[in-house]
Amino acid sequence: MCGIVGYIGHREAYPIIIEGLKRLEYRGYDSAGIALFDGTSLNVSKTKGKVADLENCVQQEIPNLGHIGLGHTRWATHGVPNSVNSHPHISNSGELVIIHNGIIENYAALKQELISRGYTFKSDTDTEVLINLIEDVKKKENVKLGKAVQIALNQVIGAYAIAVFDKAKPDEIIIARLGSPLAVGIGENEFFIASDASPFIEFTKNAVYLEDEEMAIIREGKDIKIRKIKDDSLVDTYVQELQINLEQIEKGGFDHFMLKEIFEQPKAINDTYRGRLLREEAIIKMAGVEDNMKKFLNANRIIIAACGTSWHAGLVAEYIFEDLARIPVEVEYASEFRYRNPVITENDVLIAISQSGETADTLAAIKLAKSKGAFVFGVCNVVGSSIARETHAGAYTHAGPEIGVASTKAFTTQITVLTLMALRLARAKGTISSSDFRHHLLELEMIPKKVEKALKAEASIKEIAYTYKDVSNFLYLGRGYNFPVALEGALKLKEISYIHAEGYPAAEMKHGPIALIDENMPIVVIATKTPHYEKVVSNIQEIKSRKGKIIGIVTEGDKTVRELADHVIEVPETLESLSPLLNTIPLQLLSYYIAVMLGKNVDQPRNLAKSVTVE
Ligand code: GLU
Repeated sequence: MCGIVGYIGHREAYPIIIEGLKRLEYRGYDSAGIALFDGTSLNVSKTKGKVADLENCVQQEIPNLGHIGLGHTRWATHGVPNSVNSHPHISNSGELVIIHNGIIENYAALKQELISRGYTFKSDTDTEVLINLIEDVKKKENVKLGKAVQIALNQVIGAYAIAVFDKAKPDEIIIARLGSPLAVGIGENEFFIASDASPFIEFTKNAVYLEDEEMAIIREGKDIKIRKIKDDSLVDTYVQELQINLEQIEKGGFDHFMLKEIFEQPKAINDTYRGRLLREEAIIKMAGVEDNMKKFLNANRIIIAACGTSWHAGLVAEYIFEDLARIPVEVEYASEFRYRNPVITENDVLIAISQSGETADTLAAIKLAKSKGAFVFGVCNVVGSSIARETHAGAYTHAGPEIGVASTKAFTTQITVLTLMALRLARAKGTISSSDFRHHLLELEMIPKKVEKALKAEASIKEIAYTYKDVSNFLYLGRGYNFPVALEGALKLKEISYIHAEGYPAAEMKHGPIALIDENMPIVVIATKTPHYEKVVSNIQEIKSRKGKIIGIVTEGDKTVRELADHVIEVPETLESLSPLLNTIPLQLLSYYIAVMLGKNVDQPRNLAKSVTVE
């Protein structure tokens, strides 16, 4: 993971890089570093901790700033988070500087070779090996830096987004990518390099996204030349106009990005179906589905590949695709799917779900499915991301930037996209009646207002959070469409509060987890009005008989569960198939407030990073 930022141009590089790193901290935040060249000396400052800690170091350590620099916020893969292992790394000669996102898998063999040639290493990282390999090639072959980077990368196995400069030639930066994202902002006689566009959106709206296996030489005051790493062939430079603005990546008065993003859900869901759901005409328009309708209709089955919260959205989709469109669905952890020799045929459709569109395992699952001839459809949030480019077709969620590491609006908007798809396919297959279809459209259109209503329970959820913030374990139960919601609720709590939580299908409780229940165990039960309501009420009785503390998520006006439960949180009534969109809301708020009350870093939970670009 990790975030990388670089600058070359007429401005002071330091504030641009520091501010940019702060915006990329969602990608990794165990250590940070910066290298600035002021025309005479190379000044490097690195520290364990956050970008704010780096700022303190820089004030003490770096005397002069400069107009070229590279910065890094790390999520360690090789070597513990400390200042030595932090990036940027410098080559043995002290001339070359690198920042790197990814993993050099054959670093050990390369390191041995370099050691035998007299190179020494200060850090445990794979990255320091790469910069010395580049230096070695540059000297041995007597080539310029760009060529040396290219030759070195052809010897490397793994994934990378890198930026490199030579202090003897401080008017150029070399960048390259394979498997990790890299964007270049193009200003007037200046260039910005970053893992995503957020570090430079106030300076330029013009961006170039490097594709896998591409590298570029960026020369101050000149243009950017992109080449294929393998064969050196020149690639056309496609400059995109960015759609995001500064406001979207700021907290806007909320204490945390996570809370802002929870409250953005009415708008985000609306943005997701806007232009796609045409209620009056009773149609759903999704170009990616429309253009490939045959593939979907002739599919033997749909395989959904995803990780984490996106995997939970995939599970919800399994219910809705099978229920409405009668297409068999299998939901796979991308990391398992890619390595277990799955049976994939040309008649399969793979739907890959990922907020960032950069999830390494999901990308690998896509490549595997494509190699077997399957049609691959992407559902992601970040426009122009690797998954968006790697798939045959797809649909963006249009949720706007999600910065909190614990995913919230990405989840509900993924479900919205998948629901639209299922409805569209159900209509095409004739598995849903016209009146049922219209009813779904009407109800879906009412979801944003109902989410707003669900958010009004914030104050009572805060009280419940206060009551249970000190427990060590939680159970989450749900049935049918709401089983994946229970899994997601438990994951949210684990991620940000570090309280152990398990999600279970409500009826499975008696096959094991019931043994955990005593008077200290809070159990969140999703008990909204669905065809399984009575069954869930029975499960609640079973919990009550064992003195468990019951937090019921119920439909407005519910009386039965209210009598049995210790606490209830009401959500508006909707169709069962849409209920995950509402029932998720109180669970997000509950985990948020528990984590805040425990003093945890909600937006940057320990050990996690948002965009999982390593295996
Ligand atoms: N493999 C490099 C390291 O451990 C980069 C990790 C990353 O992408 O965050 O330092």
